[in-house]
Amino acid sequence: MSEQRIKLAIQKKGRLAEKSIDALKRCGVEVDTYSARLMVPAKNYPLDLLLLRDDDIPEYVQDGVADLGVVGENVLYEKGADCEVTRRLGFGGCRLMIGIPENEDLEEPAGLRGKRIATSHPNLLKKYLTDNGVEARVVSLSGSVEIAPSLGVADAICDIVSTGNTLTFNKLKKSLVVFESEAALVANRESLKAKRAEIDELLDRIDSALASKRSKYLMLNAPKDRIDEILEIVPALDSPTVLSLADDKFVALHAVIPTKTFWEIRRRLQEAGATGIIILPIDNIIV
Ligand code: ATP
Ligand code: MG
Repeated sequence: MSEQRIKLAIQKKGRLAEKSIDALKRCGVEVDTYSARLMVPAKNYPLDLLLLRDDDIPEYVQDGVADLGVVGENVLYEKGADCEVTRRLGFGGCRLMIGIPENEDLEEPAGLRGKRIATSHPNLLKKYLTDNGVEARVVSLSGSVEIAPSLGVADAICDIVSTGNTLTFNKLKKSLVVFESEAALVANRESLKAKRAEIDELLDRIDSALASKRSKYLMLNAPKDRIDEILEIVPALDSPTVLSLADDKFVALHAVIPTKTFWEIRRRLQEAGATGIIILPIDNIIV
């Protein structure tokens, strides 16, 4: 049977565009996206990229125009498209939050009762209100939500917030978190069956790339008589490698460690006599 090509939809321009291409690169898939074309074949993989507005991606994947798509979970769940979320991709993280006038207070969802809330995510907001048993008016806008309170069309807003600078500029402040989102790889349900082998190969590569991002390669030298103490500190994924050195009072230790733990253990390693501590990024871990 000949190999089938996968159609993968990603955002053409915007916050997820470059990161989606980077993620593919880490999976060994090279794509040249400098053209104005809608569909671009990968150079070294049986895959075609569809470059789209992010809003259209869930529906295109649902309908099978694309087999796979990279899209923010906020957009996916807002659109309510029927696709399978195969992986969360660890980038494009953001929060959908309630913003309120800076001189007001809001401690819990009940405080929204009877308010008018402007948002471009009406479905996610309605679900949040229903889940919390709150009746409020949802004012659906397609953009520039943050100016709604000063125009008098809303009492509060529900919008994607990162730094909060846009809120501050509009005399608003962050309040409750409605939804936490990151980019996800979604799949068409039929394609998952019809192109199982091709999709599985890509998912394996994604898993390796995600694992390598979560890990670092640690190298250090340690006084031989303190190596047990140092081994206790190192949260290695597998058993660390201990190597002898020309100076027999010292040994070298190599280990793969979770990225997030390095800063926590660095001082303890130094206190236990470790020197020449080197931390390296990992290109790939075959999982
Ligand atoms: P398009 O032209 O494709 O419709 P857009 O303007 O709707 O683009 P972007 O602003 O590029 O979309 O955001 C794409 C996605 O990036 C969002 O849906 C969200 O999942 C994610 N994201 C991450 N951080 C932020 C942020 N600070 N603000 C808005 N979206 C963010
Ligand atoms: Mg959009």
